Amino acid sequence: MHFMYCPDCGAKTVPRQMGDDGAVPYCENCQKPLFDMFSTCVLSVVKNPAGEIALIRQSYGQQETFVGVAGYMKPGETAEEAALREIREEIGLDAAGLRYLFSAWHAARGQLMLCFCAEADAAEFRLSQEVREAKWFQPADACNAVRQGSIIERVVRAAIP
Ligand SMILES: [Zn+2]
Repeated sequence: MHFMYCPDCGAKTVPRQMGDDGAVPYCENCQKPLFDMFSTCVLSVVKNPAGEIALIRQSYGQQETFVGVAGYMKPGETAEEAALREIREEIGLDAAGLRYLFSAWHAARGQLMLCFCAEADAAEFRLSQEVREAKWFQPADACNAVRQGSIIERVVRAAIP
């Protein structure tokens, strides 16, 4: 989000040179720079002791491919807390052994994705309404179940030993 107006006072912003950052929208009324804003999301795959990988399909859309467990971070949360919360909320697993993999810029959505691999016992899924289906995959099958060239494909490959 590029600020044309100040979200605090509503004044129109003006570009101001900010050192190495170049021109940044600036509110002269509040006297503060308003750097471009974007959402940060967590994206996880879950592994069980057998090395299988859990992937999901969401309730909205009709996509044939599977995705990871993803969601927006909430203020006050660490990325690790958000990743574990989303896994609990979406598929009902109490994961542990969280491992940070990498971050990726999701250009189409303008979001920063923080990617994790979590470990959980192969317990029964308890699906949220947002999730149509969750399934354990053998590692090779997991690579084929996701959209090729996507961020989740990179996450699956990074999660496989
Ligand atoms: Zn302002």
